[in-house]
Amino acid sequence: MSIFSKDILNDKIAIVTGASRGIGSDIAIALSESGAYVVGTATSQTGADKIKETLQDKGEGRVLDVNDAKEITELVDDVNKKHNGIHILVNNAGITKDNLLIRMKDDEWNDVLDTNLKGTFKICKSTIKIMMKQRYGRVINISSVVAISGNPGQTNYAASKAGIIGFTKSLAKEVASRNITVNCIAPGFIATDMTDHLSDDIQSSLMSGIPLKRLGKLREISNSVVFLVSEGGSYITGETININGGMLMN
Ligand code: NAP
Repeated sequence: MSIFSKDILNDKIAIVTGASRGIGSDIAIALSESGAYVVGTATSQTGADKIKETLQDKGEGRVLDVNDAKEITELVDDVNKKHNGIHILVNNAGITKDNLLIRMKDDEWNDVLDTNLKGTFKICKSTIKIMMKQRYGRVINISSVVAISGNPGQTNYAASKAGIIGFTKSLAKEVASRNITVNCIAPGFIATDMTDHLSDDIQSSLMSGIPLKRLGKLREISNSVVFLVSEGGSYITGETININGGMLMN
């Protein structure tokens, strides 16, 4: 259930990558509940069909691998042609391939950097041209608490997510004069399929580091996305909003 009015994003066209499950799925639903038409992406047709089933007439599901530059260009051009603009872009698609640095294979490094950081670069590059022409845009990049805190076993993931923060600030400065804002959201531990499967021991050790003593809820991320892309967030750019129950206080 949305805390925002149903029409604050009326007439806005949004792309949300990785909308088939977890955080991306809830962001897509929350944007649509506030009136946006949402194009959500998944890596498979089954995932894309699931997105369409969830969004119904408020959006659609499309297949996209963020590592594929051609697929990105085709999707962005198609959405722009069909809907006459793209106003909101949420770069949420992300993967982990954890390993200690001494054991990390080149593939584990490259796959995570390519999907999380280079994928964000590629979609932004295609979409920002459209936003510049229309002199309006709202870009949200999903980072992570570990970008700032670091985490053993995640040098690749933390580097990709820290890269996203620097990328966001630089792009925000490049495009601010065109009425485009670019912000990051850095979630802490959010209850998803992944965290559901953690053992009781790991869950309780996690809780000891979270002052609010619970995992975050999906809607606690989506609410900030809706706020940042709505009129309420229009004077915020280049920022990283940390949503982590107090795990990390700057
Ligand atoms: P998730 O449940 O694993 O979902 C990942 C999404 O990304 C899926 O929709 C997946 O599509 C998509 N994806 C994966 N590889 C892709 C590729 N090459 N091209 C396009 N899409 C791809 O992840 P999540 O836990 O919701 O996390 C979402 C984002 O938040 C990620 O960027 C993650 O790093 C970040 N984050 C999560 C947490 C957390 O606690 N969950 C904390 C901090 C940051 P398919 O379904 O088709 O595979």
